[in-house]
Amino acid sequence: MDKPNIIWIGSPNFSSPKDYKIIAIVNHIMSGTLIGTDAWFAYPASKVSSHFGIGKNGEIHQYVKIGNIAWANGNVNKPNWPLLIPGVNPNYYTISIEHEGESGDIMPEAQYQATLALHRWLIGTIDIPVSRDNIIGHYRIDSVNRSRCPGTGFPWDRLFKDLQGGNDVLQVAVLLYTKEDYWAGADVSVKNGNCAIFVRPEDLSVPAEAMSSQKLIVVGGPTTKHPNEVLLSGKDKYQTAAAVAQYLGK
Ligand SMILES: [Zn+2]
Repeated sequence: MDKPNIIWIGSPNFSSPKDYKIIAIVNHIMSGTLIGTDAWFAYPASKVSSHFGIGKNGEIHQYVKIGNIAWANGNVNKPNWPLLIPGVNPNYYTISIEHEGESGDIMPEAQYQATLALHRWLIGTIDIPVSRDNIIGHYRIDSVNRSRCPGTGFPWDRLFKDLQGGNDVLQVAVLLYTKEDYWAGADVSVKNGNCAIFVRPEDLSVPAEAMSSQKLIVVGGPTTKHPNEVLLSGKDKYQTAAAVAQYLGK
């Protein structure tokens, strides 16, 4: 995927990398302007930053290198995100994108195309699965103080359709029976073009979106009775790991 045109701005507000793989892109709304955000992130006392910021005119600014940690998602408050790692600062394993405007604004076309291009490039560069648990809004991490970030104007449905190659229907999806299989699931997803990953909810149901995919790869659990299912599951976690390794050709 081609790298979009990115203007380096920089920020003193970042940390050096910790031992966590990046698993998600977190989208934000600036509640302000791109120029104002450039200044705020350049100001050490603000103690905030993101990796990227996108203007309404489609300009992409970068404040923190991808290998470093930006300070955008640190506070966890009543989260609604199954991939959250308990007790670990979410900044350690996420990439953050700010968008110029106010919560609820309809995103201009130039800004949409820029964020789409940036998402595509990041997905290909860092191997992020195209799923609603790997590309999220800030409100999934803090549903109390950030419930309007990025807000109702953010074009989630259009973005996922475009990231899935223009398909409303998922071609392939991976279903994990436990969150502990996340890394095996991520490898299976990468082998299938960074397809969507679902983690089975606590009520043991199978998400409808997973069942609607054309092919469903199940890791670590019993059949879902999906008509085109690949079961990578054994009698225990060791046999499941062996089944996944064989599928991946490792
Ligand atoms: Zn935010």
